[in-house]
Amino acid sequence: MSDPVFDPHAILEIEAGADAATIRRAFRRLAMRWHPDRNADPGATETFKRIRAAFEWLTSDAPADDVEASPSDPAGPSGMDRHETLEVTLAELIMGCDKPFVVRRLSECEACEGAGSVRMRHTRMCDICHGSGKVRTPAGLERCHLCAGRGFVQHASCEHCGGSGEALSERTVTVHVEAGLLPGEVLRLKGLGEPGGEGGLPGTLFLTLALADDPLFSLEGRDIHVRQPISALRLLAGGRVSLAGPLGPVVMDLPPGDGLGPGTLRLSGQGFPGRGGTIDGAGDLVVHLEPLLPSALSASDREALQGLEARLDGARDRHYPGLDSWWRTYLASRP
Ligand SMILES: [Zn+2]
Ligand SMILES: [Zn+2]
Repeated sequence: MSDPVFDPHAILEIEAGADAATIRRAFRRLAMRWHPDRNADPGATETFKRIRAAFEWLTSDAPADDVEASPSDPAGPSGMDRHETLEVTLAELIMGCDKPFVVRRLSECEACEGAGSVRMRHTRMCDICHGSGKVRTPAGLERCHLCAGRGFVQHASCEHCGGSGEALSERTVTVHVEAGLLPGEVLRLKGLGEPGGEGGLPGTLFLTLALADDPLFSLEGRDIHVRQPISALRLLAGGRVSLAGPLGPVVMDLPPGDGLGPGTLRLSGQGFPGRGGTIDGAGDLVVHLEPLLPSALSASDREALQGLEARLDGARDRHYPGLDSWWRTYLASRP
């Protein structure tokens, strides 16, 4: 039985002929996903080793210093930018906030100084060629350059980093979100992207603001919409009501109503603030009223309602013109 083809490009999910920067980027991305510290999948360690082997395979022949830094540039290549999402609540966007955000990144493992392996006292069979010194790749049978064709190695994966040469580090930073920024707007955090190589500057972290799910409120442009259950009797009678606002109750006086259909109140300028949290440019608070009839009436409640109903029915032509004309037509049609 021959070994399956070892295809390092396929393992790293990149095109054959990808440049060193692409290889490294793919490796970092997959290493982050499959690092046994982060991934509880029982196959994570094996997958991780294959990713590491593919990475070593593709980079072990490459010249130590790669394309990105020009000779006149004393610093190494800059780190990659990163793009992530920062979830915020509606109230946090309206008021502005300082929000903790965990920056996770790979940095050099201190135990093996990034080598991913440590020297053993005894040799061991090569993981890639299993001792044959040759590997079947998509290009054909090749000399295994992980063990230089010897079939054995004298290095073992570093236990600390699982052979990746990289340790996961977490750092919590405080992100200032200015009042009045909308979901989808992007914050730029310089220096919090991937670390640069050989003294190069780290990349930038781009954080896209995302609105956390809200059971009550939704945002359309700078208008805030809210569904508000309200007593149908209150709608009819009018008077002072407390409505749900994103930062607390909004008190207003309702005029006496004339119907039970769902209505909409638009409170001008009481929606999402303008840029910088200003009233200037603020949207509206749009309240969608959902009238409710009372349930669980007591005997005395019913008596009171019957009294009211009898009074209104006495002046049917005024209070229920539709019902009144129906009766008139009906009675007129009888012989
Ligand atoms: Zn290590
Ligand atoms: Zn080998």
